This record gives sequence, structure tokens and C-alpha cells, in this order.
Amino acid sequence: MGSNHELIYIGLGSNVGDRKLYIDRALDLLAKTVAIRAISSIYETDPVGYKIQAPFLNSVAEIQTLISPHDLLKRFKKIETEVGRQPRFHWGPREIDLDILMYGNRIIDTPNLTIPHPEMYRRDFVLIPLREIAKNLVHPVLQKEIQDFRCPEPLQIRHFA
Ligand code: ADP
Ligand code: MG
Repeated sequence: MGSNHELIYIGLGSNVGDRKLYIDRALDLLAKTVAIRAISSIYETDPVGYKIQAPFLNSVAEIQTLISPHDLLKRFKKIETEVGRQPRFHWGPREIDLDILMYGNRIIDTPNLTIPHPEMYRRDFVLIPLREIAKNLVHPVLQKEIQDFRCPEPLQIRHFA
């Protein structure tokens, strides 16, 4: 693949069952269709929002592909199902969650896809792993580097692997 492809940042999360295995499986399936350029460490974080659930493992990755943002989202949903995600409620526990955090400098706001991910700069479980692999990345709307964002509600977050 050419080096002129936009850099895409994705978030991976799991808080059910063998969490590390689900993340590894998702990365294996992703690697079949996109180029994975970098993967952060994995962090363990207490849940946000619906708090009565198990802690999450989270990591982020830098990928490149010519697949469009909407098709990438479809691909992500397919991979989530293949990895074993069971349908539950929004914010609920999940075997695997794949989110598109940023797609180059694109700004997308449609009913089923928002890029940059609207929560990314407010969450330590995104900011901390993203700082490892892309601290100088600039948020295209807020025009600020990843390393300069501070999470408004710091959570317990620990290095896991
Ligand atoms: P969560 O918001 O907790 O990740 P889901 O994984 O169930 O919950 O996603 C709910 C919906 O969020 C998806 O069906 C998708 O259409 C939508 N969505 C909007 N923007 C994004 C994005 N940037 N990445 C992934 N999903 C997104
Ligand atoms: Mg999701």
C-alpha cells in the first residue's frame, strides 16, 4: 500500500470473558483487510457511563486502508460479530467494541457515523494509549494535539499488557 494513505486511528475495547483474546482476534481479522501500522499497549479501565459492569481492556491502533469510512464501519461491525459480540444495550458490556476515532483529517457527521469520535478527547482510555502512538496527532475540529487534551473525569486506568 502507498504511504500517501490517510492515517486512521481506531479504538478497541472489551469487558466480557477473555478480554485480551477478543482484542487479539479482532486485530487478526482486521489485519486481513487493512494495514496495521502501530498498536498501543493495552490498558485496563473502570467502566464509564453504565458503571455496574466489569472493567474494560482498551487499546488503540493506527491503520491504513482505502476502504471508505462508512464501509470501514460496516467491516468493523462484521468483525465484532465474527469475534463473538453478543447484542446487548448501548453502553452495556461487550466482548469487543471497535470504534473509528479519526480518519485522516476528515470530519463526518451522519446519523450512524461521527468522525472524529465525539468522545475521544474526553476519555483517558483513548487519550492515554493514543499518546503512546500519536502524541502529535491534531484533532481536526479542535485543532489541538492529542498530548494536550486532558480527560475531564480521570478514571482508574492501569497498564495491562
Ligand atoms: P458504543 O457507542 O458504546 O461504541 P456501539 O458499539 O453499540 O456502542 O455503537 C453504536 C453505534 O455507534 C454504531 O452502530 C455506529 O453506527 C455508531 N457510531 C457513530 N460514530 C461511530 C464511530 N466513529 N465509530 C464506531 N461507531 C460509531
Ligand atoms: Mg462501538
